[in-house]
Amino acid sequence: MEIKVGVSACVIGQQVRFDGGHKLSRFISDELGRHFRFVPVCPEMAIGMGSPRPTIRLVGDPEHPRVQGTKGPELDVTEQLKAFADTALPGMSELSGYLLCAKSPTCGMERVRVYRPDGEGLGKVGVGVFAKALMARFPNLPVEEDGRLNDPLLRENFVLRVMAYHQWQQLRQDGLTLARLMAFHRRHKFLLLAHNQPVYRELGPMLAAADTATLKEVAEAYISRFMQALQSPASRKDHTNVLMHLQGFFKKMLSGTEKQELSELIQQYRQGLVPLVAPLTLINHHLRLHPVGYLAEQSYLNPYPADLKLRYGL
Ligand code: SF4
Repeated sequence: MEIKVGVSACVIGQQVRFDGGHKLSRFISDELGRHFRFVPVCPEMAIGMGSPRPTIRLVGDPEHPRVQGTKGPELDVTEQLKAFADTALPGMSELSGYLLCAKSPTCGMERVRVYRPDGEGLGKVGVGVFAKALMARFPNLPVEEDGRLNDPLLRENFVLRVMAYHQWQQLRQDGLTLARLMAFHRRHKFLLLAHNQPVYRELGPMLAAADTATLKEVAEAYISRFMQALQSPASRKDHTNVLMHLQGFFKKMLSGTEKQELSELIQQYRQGLVPLVAPLTLINHHLRLHPVGYLAEQSYLNPYPADLKLRYGL
């Protein structure tokens, strides 16, 4: 099953912006484009505004703003944009993630400028109207903005969430069963441990108490907590903790020298001297030589395509 990711059309180079240009992100189009099938959407073009077009902005109550022309309220496309979202979003349930264009009154995920009707700025306190409808309809969907992907932690975190969510969608497509839910949880245990220890401790008992009568309800609660847990990037301290857990599995299999080498590499990672990819490469190497079934299936060890080099920046 291919991984479909929604994207603001301008960030993959389509010339749909108000000025007739685009806002191409090379990382998104060239790097992520090798692994994801993008579904480009430009809501402003979809409602017939054309390109180039008059500029628009958020006006009024930051919670329920109008989308009006910067030259005056005579141009008001609030209802058209909402109607587009109502029509288009039901067809987007297959998406495993969404990349939005920052600052846009339509597509901005956060910190979009809002203005009072008299033109005075209220600050960066709004959310683009399409982005808001998208996140309300799919609260578990991994969503990120183009500019934020320049941060290695946020970049890694977005791709990680897309891959995990995609696996969840595959499970739902194969049919939800208690056994599949348990297997999903088992595969993602170390990932959860790295990202959120309280949720890691909470989800095991949640599943243990589930039965066929409560399965659907438990699955919904589970994926909601799971995706929330992954939303905050894991810290160096969190990764070190997981690496030490992983190291424990090899206690009886490695020689004294090998154990020391791994231990030193983990400490070098903890001190910021080497990236996360270094100790993980060694762990994966030991795992190939000494297969431990439970570990081999852990998504933490290979959460996304290696060629994206996401763990070189962590
Ligand atoms: S930010 Fe959204 S509405 Fe604006 S040009 Fe890009 S895709 Fe279109």
